Amino acid sequence: MKIRLAADLQKDSIVDGEGIRAVLWTQGCPHHCKGCHNPETWKVDGGMEVDLEDVKLALRELEGQDGITLSGGDPLYQPDACYEIAKYAKKLGLSVWCYTGYLYEEVLKDEKMRKVLDYVDVLVDGPFLLEERSLDLYFKGSRNQRVIDVPQSLKEEKVVLVPKYAKERDVFPHPKREEHLYI
Ligand code: SF4
Repeated sequence: MKIRLAADLQKDSIVDGEGIRAVLWTQGCPHHCKGCHNPETWKVDGGMEVDLEDVKLALRELEGQDGITLSGGDPLYQPDACYEIAKYAKKLGLSVWCYTGYLYEEVLKDEKMRKVLDYVDVLVDGPFLLEERSLDLYFKGSRNQRVIDVPQSLKEEKVVLVPKYAKERDVFPHPKREEHLYI
């Protein structure tokens, strides 16, 4: 099986999920969000085709990473390949975060995308909305997106957010920032 990627596996990221992570930048995204940081990843026939065995080898060779993050592009645009990669990463003891422009509820309704969730710890869902953009959010670009605890959500059959990432960062308290939600 092959997967289309926008770039080589990127190690040592501290902004694409908790801890130190290796990021797999997938190619292809149907959402076309206004203000997207990676529009070059939209084209479904762009990037490069990579054999899954080569991705698995790169995962085996990782050192000093807490987990992998499936990003892009929209990883769930290639659900079969991402299922195999997420499953393999978990087998290696790595945590798995996944970013998607789909809503969690939409993912649940699609059999192939739903299967990927079996091997995902945290899903950051929803499109990037420019009008909801904030620099004070944990691991997401706009307020509408959710950092979802996937195993707990599947267990409780409702969306359960990762509590520590549900609020905004209180980095520089300032009266002018009162409209922000500090819990
Ligand atoms: S889902 Fe992500 S990659 Fe796709 S257009 Fe939106 S912000 Fe860009």
